[in-house]
Amino acid sequence: MKLSLKKTLLRVVLPGAIVLISIFSVFAKEDFELKRRQMMLDVQQMTKMSEPYTGIETMSQTVADAMLVVPRHKFIPKSQRRYAYENRALPITHSQTISQPYIVALMTELAAVNSDSIVLEVGTGSGYQAAVLSEIVNHVYSIEIIEPLGLATKSLLKDLGYDNITVNIGDGYFGWPEHAPFDAILVTAAAPHVPEALLEQLKPGGRLVIPVGASSLAQSLKLFIKGSNGEIQEQEILPVAFVPLTGEH
Ligand code: SAM
Repeated sequence: MKLSLKKTLLRVVLPGAIVLISIFSVFAKEDFELKRRQMMLDVQQMTKMSEPYTGIETMSQTVADAMLVVPRHKFIPKSQRRYAYENRALPITHSQTISQPYIVALMTELAAVNSDSIVLEVGTGSGYQAAVLSEIVNHVYSIEIIEPLGLATKSLLKDLGYDNITVNIGDGYFGWPEHAPFDAILVTAAAPHVPEALLEQLKPGGRLVIPVGASSLAQSLKLFIKGSNGEIQEQEILPVAFVPLTGEH
């Protein structure tokens, strides 16, 4: 009797449960893909609306494709996950934020990167911006100043299989000279002024995308392009609100 109950469990109940779990996970996966598609539609709508500021009418297919595959819900604390695909910034741990999807797409677009690019990100945070970049570029170096946050994100990125992202703990104000020069540098925290080291660590033709402003009420996203002779061209993109760039610099 005992044996037949065990056999029934093994032959009927267990396979049934496995089928149900598989069906559920297929639907859950499709649900996230659907949500990412809706998120990207919202991003494109905001891109169109902000064209008078940015001059960008629509995000490129390269950027859209990257945004469509990165599982934003995995970079967010469980308590916030139901909002993961809304086009807004969300709180993460250590009083920090994951940037709004539109801003992540815009900064990636402004960086004008390709599959050969070597990129530096200052402000790893959740790791989401680094993951989006890593879908497009050759390698992302990312620096986070809050050690426990940086270490947790480093381990998350490893678990998710992002093997072309290197995270370091430190003050990104000084860049990462060992891996410079970079094709692009993205700073995801607002600096009161542009760190000279970051401009120095750009390749000729390289781009620095950075929010500049001392108060969260008066920040501007700026794009700096280094010319072939080292001259710097500055462009103001649009008003933004980032957490501050901290550190002893
Ligand atoms: N890129 C992040 C993402 O995708 O989630 C957004 C990060 S959050 C808006 C800004 C991050 O910059 C925070 O994690 C903060 O600790 C970090 N940060 C602030 N000042 C820094 C500095 N001097 N060097 C490196 N990271 C810094």
